[in-house]
Amino acid sequence: MSQESYEGICCYCNEVVTKRTVGKHLDKCKEKKALDSQFGNENNFKFFSLLVEATYDKSFWILIEVSSVLTLKNIDQFLRDIWLECCGHLSAFYHSKTKIAMSRKLYDVFQKGLILDYEYDFGSTTDLKIKILSQIDSSDKKQIRVLAVNKKSEILCSACREKQSIYDCTLCGEELCESCTKTHQCFIDEGEEYIAEKVNSPRSGVCGYDGQNKFIIKKYFPKDIPNVL
Ligand SMILES: [Zn+2]
Ligand SMILES: [Zn+2]
Ligand SMILES: [Zn+2]
Ligand SMILES: [Zn+2]
Repeated sequence: MSQESYEGICCYCNEVVTKRTVGKHLDKCKEKKALDSQFGNENNFKFFSLLVEATYDKSFWILIEVSSVLTLKNIDQFLRDIWLECCGHLSAFYHSKTKIAMSRKLYDVFQKGLILDYEYDFGSTTDLKIKILSQIDSSDKKQIRVLAVNKKSEILCSACREKQSIYDCTLCGEELCESCTKTHQCFIDEGEEYIAEKVNSPRSGVCGYDGQNKFIIKKYFPKDIPNVL
């Protein structure tokens, strides 16, 4: 599958988009236009448009707009809320392998075209890439808003190669369908403790991660949380 065809959902109208078409879609999305018009057209606020991707699986992506007065710590908290937080691991942002302090303001660090690396958990690390697509002027004060988010990719069960996998074995990393969990060696040896339902996150099946808390992430969406999360 080419990178461009990675599917996601517009968080304003719930239409299916791809990583390639999402920009074009948002420019003409009627639901977004209707919502934006409520904020007037003063465009007083500086924002950055960011594409966040999982470094080793580009089918995980989120398009967000963030206020330039936020700090990297705020972005760190967002990433934890939306994709990562399991047990309060350490995390860091890097530019060309140099760590950037969490206290830095975005207007001080971000510029169009910049790509930062991010790590959550220095043991079982989840690696992300943050691409700063553009700087924009906005009338909407909401400081972090998700414009679009990927759909969960469909991966075949690694045992039978027939059915869709819906579980992760957190012990060995295999992705399994319902019936194959029963004959999976880790399940036979250890019981169901390590068999976890897959969630839409690059941290699915890693450490104790078990998905987003809907009450916490609600604030990041312009409307309801899309059903892909
Ligand atoms: Zn839309
Ligand atoms: Zn953990
Ligand atoms: Zn199977
Ligand atoms: Zn296993």
